[in-house]
Formats: sequence, structure tokens, C-alpha cells
Amino acid sequence: MTLTSKNMPVLYSDILDREYPLPTRNVVCPDCQGEGHTSAHNIGAISADEWDDWDDESRADYLAGNYDEICPTCHGEKVVKEVFRAGVRPALLKEWDTQQRETAECDAIQRAEIAAGA
Ligand SMILES: [Zn+2]
Repeated sequence: MTLTSKNMPVLYSDILDREYPLPTRNVVCPDCQGEGHTSAHNIGAISADEWDDWDDESRADYLAGNYDEICPTCHGEKVVKEVFRAGVRPALLKEWDTQQRETAECDAIQRAEIAAGA
């Protein structure tokens, strides 16, 4: 699960009998490798024919990265948050993992129902 600033991890803990915001840490975005954008510089992004059709301004824009798209995972932040597991008590981590699994299962059921036209 990718966390965003609007999507901070909150454990609904039975042990603590309250909501418990989990500590997070920033890690390099796994999808853009910390670039903040999807790389349009990959070979094959445009064809040689397209390149030939472009004027100098378009080519300069392309090489400057102006056609790159903001990474949909980190929204250009270059980092994403993940739960700082070493900073959470093991019993709470266990609850968190269970909660995540149950949430994922609920999501999967919902997606299946939508796919089935429910
Ligand atoms: Zn990213």
C-alpha cells in the first residue's frame, strides 16, 4: 500500500482500545526510483519518425523533460511514506498487519462485486 499525506496509517487497536497513528518514514518512490516523474526518455517512448516530424522547440522541450508525466505514485514528491516498523511494538505491528490484510480482502471482495455487476 502506498501512503500519502492524506492517507496516514492509523491502526484501530484493540490492545490500546483507541486509534493509534503509526510512525512513518520516507523511502525513495519505488515506481519512479526517486525521479518524481515517469521517464519519457526511455528508448522507444517516441519513434524516429515522430522525432523527425518535431520542430526544434518540441525536441528541446522533450529533452528538458517537459513531456515527462508526474509520477502517479508519489505525485512528484520523489519519496513515499511507509510504516516505520522498527518503531512500532510487535503486538501493534501484528494488529496492523491483520488490519491491512482484512482491508485488502474487503477491497478485493468489493472489486469482485463491481466486476460481477453487483
Ligand atoms: Zn514516484
